[in-house]
Amino acid sequence: MAHPLFDISGRTALVTGSSRGIGLALARGLAEAGCTVVLNGRDAERLTKAASELPGDVHTVVFDVTDGPSVAAGIADVEERVGPLDILVNNAGMQLRAPLLEFTDADWHRILNTNLTSAFLVGREAARRMTERGHGKIVNICSLQSEVVRPGIAPYAATKGALKMLTKGMCADWGPHGVQVNGLGPGYIETELTRPLVDDEEFSAWVRRRTPAGRWGRTDDLVGGALFLASPAADFVSGQVLYVDGGMTSVL
Ligand code: NDP
Repeated sequence: MAHPLFDISGRTALVTGSSRGIGLALARGLAEAGCTVVLNGRDAERLTKAASELPGDVHTVVFDVTDGPSVAAGIADVEERVGPLDILVNNAGMQLRAPLLEFTDADWHRILNTNLTSAFLVGREAARRMTERGHGKIVNICSLQSEVVRPGIAPYAATKGALKMLTKGMCADWGPHGVQVNGLGPGYIETELTRPLVDDEEFSAWVRRRTPAGRWGRTDDLVGGALFLASPAADFVSGQVLYVDGGMTSVL
């Protein structure tokens, strides 16, 4: 039997950007741990299909995480329809690869809104309620690029570096009201977001060589860390980023 500190059954969890990839794997992990899970994305049909493949009590809510009024309405709808949120995973995100000199203003704002402003908007709406109730767990999906960067992804790294600092700020503001906020920092994980890199044999081999674990990450590799940060075992853990990267950020 699992230690009771890791028991999160009966909690309600929202995972943003969970129609596929890391978000869907984390949602499945939370559902398997006995949580009531709410999937989020921008496409209702995709979400319904994803929800049908998960066990337990699974719901969906459609909103664009970059749109403040939709976020506010979406969180209110979840709380009314499903129940008080105990756990929020700010996972929705995107990648745009281009040399910085060729990066357009529109793309800058798009990636900033999707990867950073989203966590502020969704986090604020959830935390309004969590702080009032005196408990809650928020997990912001950061990245190994919260720490290090490669050519061609400076804006992405800037959003993820800032998300790490936003995590610490949320911890400072909401910790006194019983809400713990942490980051989970994936390394290179095979998803649609990294498809061009996986398909690039040279780059793909570089990732395997460069990662002490000797392989690309799988979405399921992230589940244990997320469940820990969402559980009572992490009640005194806040403002941290847990890197799940096969060791990559630790070695040259
Ligand atoms: P995917 O591209 O596979 O999935 C992204 C998810 O986010 C989709 O479900 C998409 O749903 C949703 N999404 C995107 N934009 C919005 C939006 N504006 N509003 C609501 N939902 C949105 O990416 P990954 O699973 O790879 O990445 C998930 C997170 O993990 C991201 O934050 C990413 O930066 C981070 N990460 C990923 C790494 C990797 O190697 N894969 C490494 C480090 C961090 P839909 O299109 O249906 O709306």
